Amino acid sequence: VADTCDVVVVGLGAVGGATAHRLAVAGIDVIGVDRFAPPHEAGSSHGGTRITRLAVGEGDAYVELVARSHELWREAEAATGASLLVPCGGLVLGAPGDGGQHGVGDFTAATIGVATRHGIDHEVLGAEEVRTRFPTFAVTDDVVAYFEPSAGYLRVEDCVATQLRLAERAGASLRRDEEVLAWSPRGAGVRVETARGTIDAGRVVLAAGAWTPTLVPELAPLLTVEREVQYWFEATAAHEALARLPIFIWFHDPAPGSLVYGFPAVDGVGGGVKVATETYGSPTDPTTVERRVSPDEVATFHRSHVAGRLPLLSSRCRRAVVCLYTVTPDFGFVVDVVPECDRAIVVSACSGHGFKHAPAIGEAVAHEIAAGVRPRSLAPFSLDRFATTGASDRP
Ligand SMILES: Cc1cc2nc3c(=O)[nH]c(=O)nc-3n(C[C@H](O)[C@H](O)[C@H](O)COP(=O)(O)OP(=O)(O)OC[C@H]3O[C@@H](n4cnc5c(N)ncnc54)[C@H](O)[C@@H]3O)c2cc1C
Repeated sequence: VADTCDVVVVGLGAVGGATAHRLAVAGIDVIGVDRFAPPHEAGSSHGGTRITRLAVGEGDAYVELVARSHELWREAEAATGASLLVPCGGLVLGAPGDGGQHGVGDFTAATIGVATRHGIDHEVLGAEEVRTRFPTFAVTDDVVAYFEPSAGYLRVEDCVATQLRLAERAGASLRRDEEVLAWSPRGAGVRVETARGTIDAGRVVLAAGAWTPTLVPELAPLLTVEREVQYWFEATAAHEALARLPIFIWFHDPAPGSLVYGFPAVDGVGGGVKVATETYGSPTDPTTVERRVSPDEVATFHRSHVAGRLPLLSSRCRRAVVCLYTVTPDFGFVVDVVPECDRAIVVSACSGHGFKHAPAIGEAVAHEIAAGVRPRSLAPFSLDRFATTGASDRP
């Protein structure tokens, strides 16, 4: 006999957990299913920390989402006592003509533009001011820096766990370690087949992160899964200074991909400092991806991004952890009904910058389902933007 509910949420990571929570708060009978027990290290939501910043250089469309998400992270903290959002400040550093990220060239200038247009409190600093106020960064004379006091980091695993706690508290039924094998339209709703049984529901939300191309094969041409590595380098003696760092994104050379981003030393003396870059062009998938990080890979990363730039970090790497990006051609998200089945909504909010937006996206998806009206905030993430060219203007 099939179980029944209003909505099945497949995937209980960052965006699935947020969606299940908000659906339950809206009084909708929701079953959430995950093949693992989030938080876990197989997908995209692990590694201790994620950057959040109000002036989202990726585009104006994201500002409302991140501002709402900051409110929702604070609400979640108040409801549970968890500490999720740490506003340690954020620096974006680059020289004019830097290679940018997420499809945006000169990311520092783009960030300053977004902050100015949206009235976000910030400062623009030159090289001398950076050296005085943030001596950890050995910047070149042509650097321009954006400093945002309200930027900071999210404790990623605690965020995922807290959203799931709140979802269950609001009445969601969550099933862990249960893989969804297939889903299909059935009557006026959908049928979801899992490794343990069948669920008949009115709607399904597919929030499967890097596994989305398997569950929604028609979207596979638009979604590329990339292997990324997070590194924790040992600090030299200056732990106090490193613990007080802002989060940073530093475009250190004009070539695309010449960036290093990082966090304060949040894991105590000896915990190391987390830094990373972004690499593209070697598509993979969650089943076959190489999870091991070789000593050569560590040495190359250190030489290319850390040496001579962050002198308080040694070349000794305490640990290195692989994580997965799910990237679209324009680095925007996909939040839309599946082609040919308006009872299935796919929510793929990654492209390397989705975590900070997860609560607001979950809230918007729940609103679309509960009220039958698509919120304006989701309009930039419709699939039709890819319809003619395969890629298009940025959200
Ligand atoms: C190294 C790295 C750094 C990043 N840095 C930032 C940052 O600084 N700031 C930021 O905002 N964003 C950042 N991101 C992006 C952000 O982490 C992602 O946008 C976010 O984690 C994506 O969440 P998700 O819910 O889509 O995926 P996930 O959290 O991976 O969740 C997907 C879930 O679906 C489940 N699932 C899959 N298939 C099935 C199935 N068949 N049946 C049942 N369950 C299934 C999986 O087990 C998983 O739990 C970063 C990502 C990475 C990898």
